[in-house]
Amino acid sequence: MSWSEKVTSALLPVYARVNLAFERGDGAWLTSTSGERFLDFGGGIAVASLGHSHSHLVAALDEQGAKLWHTSNLFEIPQAERLAQRLVAASFADTVFFTNSGAEAVEGAIKTARKYQSSGGHPEKFRIITFDGAFHGRTLATIAAAGNPKYLEGFGPRVEGFDTVPFGDIEAVKAALGPQTGAILIEPIQGEGGIRVAPPHFLRSLRDLCDEHGLLLLFDEVQTGVGRTGKLFAYELFSVPPDIMAVAKGIGGGFPLGAFLSTREAGRGMTAGTHGTTYGGNPLAASIGNAVLDVVLAPGFIEHVGLMGARLKQGLAGLQERHGGIISGIRGEGLMQGIALRVPVNDFAAAARAEGILVIPAAENVARLLPPLIIGEAEISEALARFEAACLRLESRDPETMAAKVSGTAV
Ligand SMILES: *Cc1c(COP(=O)(O)O)cnc(C)c1O
Repeated sequence: MSWSEKVTSALLPVYARVNLAFERGDGAWLTSTSGERFLDFGGGIAVASLGHSHSHLVAALDEQGAKLWHTSNLFEIPQAERLAQRLVAASFADTVFFTNSGAEAVEGAIKTARKYQSSGGHPEKFRIITFDGAFHGRTLATIAAAGNPKYLEGFGPRVEGFDTVPFGDIEAVKAALGPQTGAILIEPIQGEGGIRVAPPHFLRSLRDLCDEHGLLLLFDEVQTGVGRTGKLFAYELFSVPPDIMAVAKGIGGGFPLGAFLSTREAGRGMTAGTHGTTYGGNPLAASIGNAVLDVVLAPGFIEHVGLMGARLKQGLAGLQERHGGIISGIRGEGLMQGIALRVPVNDFAAAARAEGILVIPAAENVARLLPPLIIGEAEISEALARFEAACLRLESRDPETMAAKVSGTAV
């Protein structure tokens, strides 16, 4: 088919979009342009941490939006200063750099690790050990870091300096460790990779290895951070603090905001002029980030995430018992849960949509559930009922055909 016949959208056709658009959102619900209501268990890929149209976020947007949006990092930004102070007070870190996306945050974390080594007299230690199944973003360095051939293909020479090994394999990490290794980069729970939770002893071994060899430990918490797992940051689940951490997604509640956080020591090479961004942490973005923290850091909020996560997981386990032909496993922490499927994940997502609930496909044929953190018991019950209906819908189809269609990965 020719270009003119094929193309009806002016958007670059890099996404396989579902034929569905939304007009408004409230809490955990989305309303489509044709008026249908959906329970949003994708949260815009873990971004809508406080759901849609949260009154406190709308108020912050209105208030700051009426005053001042942007001044640039040539000047002091009190809102960003405050947000950074609060993140530092609530984490392992001493210092924060704000970005506009997750990839930019991971990219900054990588640069900081390389600069740490070179400022310590080891410019040769620029290599970073990374893991199969990882996702770190779509810039040239972050696709090289994750090493997924699907995302590297056709984009020229792979950015040098990443050694990818199997997730969870400490012997492979030791074997990859060489005189040029300067850091290790890992998601404590892989999101895109299919909600793969790193074994706690593995993360502890990485920490020990880093301490022993003078390496930095980098956590990509772009998806797991800001309350998602029932802790403010997932590293707390494992009691393994990193040296540098990238966050984004949930920290802006839907406004593009990311950050990398670092200890003073790990950030020692990042002096005036070494790094920058035009938009990062502008007054509007930082005001919204502060408003997100107002809610997430309020007493009881993170505990609520943990409770709702446990309830969801328990319900999903029951669903697996009743629908073993559809569901092969449940995995995750807090409100970051994965349903491992025996049917193609895109079929499950379509059946769920037909029942008025949205989920996100991930690798390993897993449906990702990333509902807003403000979700309540009634909405979880409603979600479980809709998943049940989606399973029944799939079971009414030919199970053999379904099984044959399952592919190894689907995103
Ligand atoms: C989404 C994601 C990124 C990339 O974030 P963008 O905002 O899309 O650039 C990086 N790392 C992880 C773990 C993510 O989930």
